[in-house]
Amino acid sequence: MRGKRETAMIIDTHAHIGLGERLSDTYQVDQSVEVVLQQMAEAGVDKTCVMPVAYVDYAAAIEEVREAVAAHPDKLIGYARVNLNHRERASAQLQRCFEMYGFRGVKIHPGSGDGFPTRWFMEMMGEYGRPLLLHTTPDLAVIDAITHLARSYPKVPVICGHMGGFGVFNPGFVKLLATEAKQIENLYLDTAFVFLHQWIGMAVEICGPEKVLLGSDGPVLHPAIPLKQIELCHFSDSERGLILGGNASKLLGL
Ligand SMILES: [Zn+2]
Repeated sequence: MRGKRETAMIIDTHAHIGLGERLSDTYQVDQSVEVVLQQMAEAGVDKTCVMPVAYVDYAAAIEEVREAVAAHPDKLIGYARVNLNHRERASAQLQRCFEMYGFRGVKIHPGSGDGFPTRWFMEMMGEYGRPLLLHTTPDLAVIDAITHLARSYPKVPVICGHMGGFGVFNPGFVKLLATEAKQIENLYLDTAFVFLHQWIGMAVEICGPEKVLLGSDGPVLHPAIPLKQIELCHFSDSERGLILGGNASKLLGL
C-alpha cells in the first residue's frame, strides 16, 4: 500500500497570511488563514509554517500570525518576518517572536524591501538556532550572496525558497543551488512555486532528499500542487518522507 498518509507528518514550510498592501507587493495580498486551513484539509497537509505577506513594518502582521497560530496551534507554525533596514525595531520584534510567541523561523524577502541579512541578524538567528527562509531570486549575484551567508553562519539553516526556480523557464539556477546545497551543510531548498516537477527531481538527485523541503508559497499556490509535483517524481518512500516532513520536523525542532 502506498499513500501519503503512510509517511510521517506532512509539513508545508512556506505559506503566507495577511491582508498585505499592494504598494508593497502585488503578488501576495488578501491571504486569509481560513483559506490556508481549507487548502491544508484539501491537500492532506498536517502542519503549515505561516509567515506575513510583504509590509514596510511587520508589527501588525506579526500579531496576525501570532493570533492565527494561537487559534490553531496543532496546525500552524509561526514564522516572523521583519524589515532588516530598521535594526532596532527588527531585533525587538524577533526577540518577542522567539521568546514570547514561540515562532520557529524567519522569512526574509530581500527583493520586496525586507533588506538582506547581515551580521547582527545572522548572529541572532544563530543564538536562537532558528531556520531562515530566504526568497531566492534567480540571479547569480543573489545566489552568490546567499551561499556566502550560509557558509559564514554554519549554525543557521538557510532555506532557499523556490530553489531558484521561480518565474524562470530554464533549470540552470535550480541546478546551481542544488549543487551548492550538496556542498554547504546548512543550505536547503524548498519546493515552493518551482516551475516544473522535473526540476524538483533533479534537485533531489544532485543534493539528496535530506536537503529539500515541501513548501507551497500558499495560499497563492495550493499545497496540492507541489505535493502532486513531488508524487510525479516517483521518489522512494524514505526520500518522500524526508521531503514531505522529516527534514522540516528536524529543522523546526518538532
Ligand atoms: Zn514566500
